[in-house]
Amino acid sequence: MQEMSNEVLLERLATLATNGPRYTSYPPATAFQPVADDAVRRELSTIGESSAPISLYVHVPFCRSLCAYCACNVIPTRDRSRGDAYVDDLITELAMLTAAIGRPPPVVEIALGGGSPNFLEPAAMRRLIAAIRAYTVPQKNMRMSVELDPRTTTSHQLDTLALLGFKSLSVGVQDFAEQVQDAIRRHQTAKQTQWLIDTARAAGFTDVNIDIVYGLPCQSEHSFGETLDAVVALGPDRIALFGYAHIPDKMPHQRLVEAKGRIPDAYERAALFVFATERLERAGYVHLGLDHFARPDSALAAAADSARMVRTFQGYVEKTSDVVLGLGTSAISSSPRMLWQNHAKLEPWREAIIARKIPVVRGATLDRDDQIRRAVIDRLMCNGSVALGSLCRKFGVDAGTYFARELARMPEFAELAKLDEPTHTITTTPLGRLLVRNICMAFDRYAQSGTHSPTI
Ligand code: SF4
Repeated sequence: MQEMSNEVLLERLATLATNGPRYTSYPPATAFQPVADDAVRRELSTIGESSAPISLYVHVPFCRSLCAYCACNVIPTRDRSRGDAYVDDLITELAMLTAAIGRPPPVVEIALGGGSPNFLEPAAMRRLIAAIRAYTVPQKNMRMSVELDPRTTTSHQLDTLALLGFKSLSVGVQDFAEQVQDAIRRHQTAKQTQWLIDTARAAGFTDVNIDIVYGLPCQSEHSFGETLDAVVALGPDRIALFGYAHIPDKMPHQRLVEAKGRIPDAYERAALFVFATERLERAGYVHLGLDHFARPDSALAAAADSARMVRTFQGYVEKTSDVVLGLGTSAISSSPRMLWQNHAKLEPWREAIIARKIPVVRGATLDRDDQIRRAVIDRLMCNGSVALGSLCRKFGVDAGTYFARELARMPEFAELAKLDEPTHTITTTPLGRLLVRNICMAFDRYAQSGTHSPTI
C-alpha cells in the first residue's frame, strides 16, 4: 500500500471493489440448497463416531428494538418472557442433537450470539448453560463468549455470565457520532460502553471485542476518527471493522437509514476504511485479516501467528474445533462434510422442534471439490496466501491440472496477487489483502454477483 499514493490506493479500491460473499463459510450461505432432517441426522451420527471436539453456537434472536442498519435475524420485542420459552425450545433442540450424535459430545466452546443474548434473564441464562453442561461433556478450558448490548445489559447479568464461566465478550459500537447514531437509530454513549467493559473485566472477563462499522450516512473522517479514538481508549483486545451492507430490498427497514443522509459511495467507503485501518494500526493494533484487528498480545493475534486463526460465521476466531453445532433460529452448523442452517423464523423452527425434527431448512453437502476449494479460500482469507501445490497434494490432486482454469486467470489479478509458478503459491499484495474476496471468488464454484456485500 505504501508503494502507491493514497489517491491511487482509494481509486483502485473503489474501482476493484465488487459484490462478493464474506466467506464466513464455503460454500457460501447464498449457495445453500434444501436439506432434509435425515441427512443431518446421518451427519450427526458420523460426528458421534469420532471423538472430535465440537463448538456450540447458540443464536438468541431477540432485541429490545430494531436498529435501522441491522442485517441480522432479529425479533424486536420487549416481552422478556419470550426468552424463557425460547430457552425451553433450545434445550429440547440440544437434547435432540445429542441423541442423534449418540452420546454427550465433548464441547470446547460455547458462543452466544444474536440478536442480543442479554435479552435472556439471568435465570434463563443459568438454565441454558446448565442444560448444555448436562447434555455435553465440557472440556477443560472451554471457551465461553457472548455478544452483549451495552444499552440493555445489567451488572446482575454480567456477574451471572462471569460465574457461569464466560470470559470473552463482544460489544457493538458502530459509531459514537450523534448524527450517525440518529441515522442508524441506535443511541449508545461511550460512557455506557465503558461501564459495560469495566464491569465485565472486574467480574472476570479477560477478552473484549468491539464492532465498528464504516460506510454509514453522515460519517466523516473527522467524526469517525473521534469514534476510533474513543474505541481505542476503551482498550479492547480485538476490533472488528465491518463495512455497512445496505440491502434494503432484502431488509426493508434499512430504508430508514437513507432518511438522514446519503449512503457513502465506493470511493468514500474506501477512504473511511483506509483511514480507519491506518488509525488502528497507529494505535498499536495488528491488521489480522480483511476486517479484524487485535492487540499484538491478544489470543487472536497469537492464533494468527501460529496459523490457528479461522474464518467462521462469527468472523475471524481462534480455531477450537472442526465441528460447529448451531442451536436456535437461523443458526448454521458446520462439519468437514456438511453445512446446514436452521429455519430463520421462530415459528417453523419451533414447530420442527415440537415435532422432534431437526429444525434444518437448507445447507450443503460438501463433495471433494467443495472441500478442496473450501481449504483454498480459508487459507486466502486467513493467511492472505495459499500454497496450492502442497494443499492439493494433501487431497491427492495436482494443483496445475486441478486449478488450470483458475491459474490461467491469475494475470487478471496481477495487482492483487503474485503467483509463484513452480509451487503454484498465490500471495496477495498489500492491495490484494484488502480485496482478498475478489481472488477467493475466482476459486468459488458458486460465485455470483449482485446478492452480496461490497468487498470494500
Ligand atoms: S442490537 Fe444488534 S442485532 Fe439487535 S437490532 Fe441492533 S444491530 Fe441488530
